[in-house]
Amino acid sequence: MKTLETDILLVGAGLAGRTAAEEVRNADSGLRVMLFDAGGAASTEIMGFSAPVHPDDSPELFLRDILNAGGGRSDPRLARLLAERALPELHHLEALGLRFDRTPEGAYDTVNAIGSSFPRVVHSGSSTGRQAMRLLSAETEHERIVRLFRKEGVLCGACTSGGRRISAKAVILAGGGFAGLWKFHTWSRMLRGDSLILASEAGAELTGLGCVQFEPAVTVHPEKIAGFPVITTVLHEGAVLRNRFGRPLLSPEEPVPGKRELAERILREIRAGNALPHGGIQYDFSSVDEAAFARKYPDYSAKFHRIEPDFRHLAFEVKPGAHTTLGGIRINEWCETAVPGLFASGEAVGGIHGLDRIGGNAGLEVFVFGRIAGRSAAEYAAKTKRLPLPDVSDLPEPTPEAIFREIASVLDACFDPLSDADMLRRGIAHLKTLPPFPHVRLAIAAMDDALSHR
Ligand SMILES: Cc1cc2nc3c(=O)[nH]c(=O)nc-3n(C[C@H](O)[C@H](O)[C@H](O)COP(=O)(O)OP(=O)(O)OC[C@H]3O[C@@H](n4cnc5c(N)ncnc54)[C@H](O)[C@@H]3O)c2cc1C
Repeated sequence: MKTLETDILLVGAGLAGRTAAEEVRNADSGLRVMLFDAGGAASTEIMGFSAPVHPDDSPELFLRDILNAGGGRSDPRLARLLAERALPELHHLEALGLRFDRTPEGAYDTVNAIGSSFPRVVHSGSSTGRQAMRLLSAETEHERIVRLFRKEGVLCGACTSGGRRISAKAVILAGGGFAGLWKFHTWSRMLRGDSLILASEAGAELTGLGCVQFEPAVTVHPEKIAGFPVITTVLHEGAVLRNRFGRPLLSPEEPVPGKRELAERILREIRAGNALPHGGIQYDFSSVDEAAFARKYPDYSAKFHRIEPDFRHLAFEVKPGAHTTLGGIRINEWCETAVPGLFASGEAVGGIHGLDRIGGNAGLEVFVFGRIAGRSAAEYAAKTKRLPLPDVSDLPEPTPEAIFREIASVLDACFDPLSDADMLRRGIAHLKTLPPFPHVRLAIAAMDDALSHR
């Protein structure tokens, strides 16, 4: 089969990949970029992203919140970049034509993410991610990358599931996270950590794999929208979580806790036997101002109206579900990994958010680190000679679906925000009985990391 040739190969065409591709094009270096994507990017689901736009807010205060949420497990250098580059990224998107919602006074209309000391989530209706994906659209090959090639320790290309070989001077991994390994999760089965596996097989390091964010309120009922993450910012706007006796989980006076604590509280309530018939907690919207909600979240409003036309009767049954993975490929401030020629960005990387991520910060991360990865890879490729691909023609054996199902059951049973050391050990022991496919090893590594911090 013919070998394809490019200067920079991008794995993943979500917003991290597309921003990196845009940055390479902007560098005006004449470098060629090829994007490969397996489908199902989480970026389309981004409602909004964080930026310190409030007059009393600042990048320093934003950084403080990121580090607080991270519980000592984020890399302060990466967290600082996230905080400091938020406003330039917002203005860049505006220059591209993305119009963010404004108040009647002309200020940005912001949503107050839990764990944030200022309202920071800027948005364009509830389809910010989808619109940004369109603005940054790029020609994409719809095929999975299954192996990276190195020559004398230096990245030199990759190979697709169909056996196509691609020669490249630099590779950027932007293949998203691995929450799709759980059975109960909020998004695509495509997001099962391929980027992390490719990186570690090529010799890069992974970090913080046990830091997994569980979205607190994911629907188990009504069945029509099971698996849908119902935004928690509405807890600031009148929505109430109740157990099966109607008792609120949060008292009206207390501040809404961060996502991690909220997920833990809901799980504790469920495990105490206080769940509703479908195994979740009630998320009651009856006191939410319907008109204000519709203005702020038009897409969600339309979706919810299809379920219940009158908000006074709107309630979901919810429980925490695996949502985004905060650990991943270890990078430095230039998005370099430990392997020359290999860069990474977006949810595939670890170390930015640490233990918990404030809502809106993943949507920001893809732009900030996508851009840095694009620039670094372009600078590297511009001064690097093409290396020959090694003579490897066999394809790695794919992880069978039956094994994915086993991994999903074990993770659901043994790895959530409340899992103790015994549960994690039980899960690891079970996974170790499975054939050592890369996704099995990834799940074990994530549980091992979680165990080492229990
Ligand atoms: C339902 C939902 C709602 C969310 N809402 C928000 C929000 O409002 N605000 C916020 O900040 N964050 C939000 N997030 C988190 C955010 O969407 C993600 O963290 C972010 O979009 C990740 O972007 P990415 O570009 O790194 O990866 P993705 O957008 O997930 O794209 C990764 C792409 O890589 C491809 N890929 C993977 N492996 C391979 C391979 N081997 N070969 C080729 N392609 C591959 C995948 O097919 C996928 O298309 C939400 C997440 C979900 C699931």
